[in-house]
Amino acid sequence: MSERVEDSTVDESFEPTQPNTGESYEPVQVFPDDQTMDLRPGADSCTKCSTCDTNCPVAAVDDEFPGPKFQGPEQWRLKQTDEGEEYTIDDSVMDCSNCMRCDDACPSGVPLSQMHNEARGEYVETEMSKFSRTYWRNRLLANYRTSAKVGTAVPRLANAVLNNSAVQWINETVLGITSEREFPDFATQTFREWWADRGGAAASRENARESRERMGDPADADKQVAYFHGCYSNYNTPEVAKAMVRNFEYFGYEIVVPEQRCSGTPMFANGMLSDARRDAEVNVSSFSDLVDQGYDAICSCTSCSMAIRQEYPELFDIDGLDDVSTHTYEAVEYLRAFEDLEGELADATVEFPDLAYHAPCHGRNQGLERQAVELFRELDGVEVEDVGKSCSGISGTYGWKAEKYETSMKIGEEMFEHMDHAEPETGLTECPTCSMQMEHGSGYEIRHPLEVVEAALIE
Ligand code: SF4
Ligand code: SF4
Repeated sequence: MSERVEDSTVDESFEPTQPNTGESYEPVQVFPDDQTMDLRPGADSCTKCSTCDTNCPVAAVDDEFPGPKFQGPEQWRLKQTDEGEEYTIDDSVMDCSNCMRCDDACPSGVPLSQMHNEARGEYVETEMSKFSRTYWRNRLLANYRTSAKVGTAVPRLANAVLNNSAVQWINETVLGITSEREFPDFATQTFREWWADRGGAAASRENARESRERMGDPADADKQVAYFHGCYSNYNTPEVAKAMVRNFEYFGYEIVVPEQRCSGTPMFANGMLSDARRDAEVNVSSFSDLVDQGYDAICSCTSCSMAIRQEYPELFDIDGLDDVSTHTYEAVEYLRAFEDLEGELADATVEFPDLAYHAPCHGRNQGLERQAVELFRELDGVEVEDVGKSCSGISGTYGWKAEKYETSMKIGEEMFEHMDHAEPETGLTECPTCSMQMEHGSGYEIRHPLEVVEAALIE
């Protein structure tokens, strides 16, 4: 039986020993006593429990990646010591995929993704050569909207050229963009072109008024939303954006589609904070006037809603941002919260293939991981099977980088296996890049929950 210690004085001669070998070691003092405190909420709350590390999908498959605890609180502390003036951000921060699962996992509320985004921004700004191939490849991927604008000007030609094997080989050899993936097709008509041809906000007002008459409440003037469609729904999957419009009009909402740029998600992931800020300023300015007039901002992509709700306020100080951020919602989340979407679907029947659902990491971070499964549980005509909690592995631009492709596919393995074992052979998710990875790993066609709602209520 051990002796009870009466004297609490620290024994200076104490030497810690390794539990397995009994060898003594020098403890690493990660949090020195003379540090300057970081006053952001939660920044000094790390207890070194390592929960974030065990939830990191990159660390799970890449032994070289030091994990979120190192990328966040540890590097941050090292920078804050006196010697920290000399401290340069470790290049491993570029191996983080920005999935944000560590954020969700931390029991102490440490703002891990904010720390990672700031560290990545500093690394790119101060350490990365602006003449390197990696810098320009990352910049090209992060500014997808620019390439997509060119692609949709000549969609058929762009689709044929980009998926030509010689062009894919050049892309990999010269730019470092993997040749293993097929580029998603550009739409022959963008969502914004469709929206303008259809009559824009005036047509939406009329459609919404007719729906409100059907619902017996023609004068409900509060039903106004501003749609943040993002890049992918505009240039590649306008069918998702059209479904959003039709579903909201069905419930009597008048929709406006303001000027907008990329939400910034791929820019944060690549440490391109100036590019992200440039686009965030346009987005906030464009949506804040509408929010002042009573509109809510609706996103159909969970990474876009994540960026506007969490990453913008963590990283930027822009006039009107707080209001825009607190009035931003994901589309299905909004209809569940403010309309009886479940009730409408319970009375409906749909003709739709059965679906294997993957909850995107950024949707998880907003508490939306069960919504599609819960929503369609009572819908007659379709079965939805959840394919588990794993990360899809693509994380936006991450899985498009030649040197990250293998890691991305290793992370996705669990999801592919679950999709393979599930009965349905069509996928379902709210995230455009998760849908690319699901399609790439399974060969299934992938749909968005808004399309299922549209098929049930409108078609
Ligand atoms: S989960 Fe949170 S508290 Fe635990 S080590 Fe990671 S950052 Fe620190
Ligand atoms: S954001 Fe994802 S990849 Fe990056 S450290 Fe956190 S869990 Fe790991």
